[in-house]
Amino acid sequence: MKLKEIYSVNTAKPVISYEVFPPKNDADGQKLEQLFLELEKLMKYQPSLISVTYGAGGSNQSESVEIIKRIKTDLKTTPMPHFTCVSTSEKNIKNYLKILEQLSIENILALRGDIPGTQEVCHDFKYASELVEYIKKQSSLSVAVAGYPEVHKEAVSPEMDIEYLKNKVDKGADVIYTQLFFNNAHYFNFCEKCQSKGINIPIIPGILPVTNFKTLEKMTSLSNVDIPQDLLTKLNKHKDDKDYIKQTGIEFAIKQCKELIESGVRGMHFYTLNKEYATGKILGNLL
Ligand code: FAD
Repeated sequence: MKLKEIYSVNTAKPVISYEVFPPKNDADGQKLEQLFLELEKLMKYQPSLISVTYGAGGSNQSESVEIIKRIKTDLKTTPMPHFTCVSTSEKNIKNYLKILEQLSIENILALRGDIPGTQEVCHDFKYASELVEYIKKQSSLSVAVAGYPEVHKEAVSPEMDIEYLKNKVDKGADVIYTQLFFNNAHYFNFCEKCQSKGINIPIIPGILPVTNFKTLEKMTSLSNVDIPQDLLTKLNKHKDDKDYIKQTGIEFAIKQCKELIESGVRGMHFYTLNKEYATGKILGNLL
């Protein structure tokens, strides 16, 4: 099913989607099998879509394809591969689009990608908007893009960040998935600003349940995410107590999601980190 249809289905419940990544250092395929065991447990919450990240450098293109195929065949769910402009070429993107069409994939998340020190963004595509435009011309895929409630770290200003987001929408994006955030006020404010600029496609909040203090530190240092002081104080006090961190992270995410649902969000996109536990506990409480 295409993104437009997924998010136009009229139900009282928000559309649930998950993000997973191709496991690293998985020569014997054990981690991939584990990932599918975790996903199978999450099927009971009836996700409409599972997205698969794409590593910088294209190193995991074949792993991504393998996962996409299995989401479709084994889980009977709609997959959405991510794709980035980093260290690739127009030829490579064209070939990849052909592979996706042969697999009857209907959706893609088009990104610029993060630029590691040693790599360059593809000369053919500098920004995600150019990739969106190219994909729309070359294929019938429905395209999603990324949005940043707390402003992208390289943006010249919050206003320009939204202008460039609008550009991605004007080039043909159907849905926006947001960067993770913990303070819903940033999301509500972002949605308002987008609407005032004429962005009228669904803006789906990205939810990351905190399960590990180090992962939280790493992810937030990469993206300048505001962590509410009361949550940070609690987590900091018990940062070595793994069970406490998990429990507190899950309780926080349940409250956060309840508020988002009350506000009428069309969907919620869970950054599962390839594990069922936290996302399952949250959805078990909500649905
Ligand atoms: P763009 O939309 O191109 O924006 C990048 C920056 O350039 C912004 O600061 C923007 O304001 C600015 N900009 C845009 N257009 C112009 C212009 N014409 N002139 C000047 N400035 C401009 N990364 C991966 O490597 N793999 C993944 O699978 C992946 N999945 C993600 C999924 C989600 C939901 C999100 C939110 C992020 C994901 N990322 C992923 C991270 C993403 O690649 C980075 O945040 C990257 O730095 C920006 O990508 P973008 O598509 O938002 O870029």
